[in-house]
Amino acid sequence: MVCRWFGICPLRRLEEKGKISDKWKKEYCSSENNWLNCKRYQFEEKGKYHPDNMLPNGEIDEKLE
Ligand code: SF4
Repeated sequence: MVCRWFGICPLRRLEEKGKISDKWKKEYCSSENNWLNCKRYQFEEKGKYHPDNMLPNGEIDEKLE
């Protein structure tokens, strides 16, 4: 299984553009239930704003657009 947001998560676009490696996908998005620990996932569940350049660990990478 993968995270319920897998298909529409902005991280997919960043991966396709080669701006981030697939390590986040492996560690969170498609890792057994670990998406529950993803800050993006948690914010999404709470309806809390989070920018597209926020990574699963909560870090905001200003270099990413
Ligand atoms: S970054 Fe987080 S919210 Fe997005 S697909 Fe991966 S686990 Fe889900």
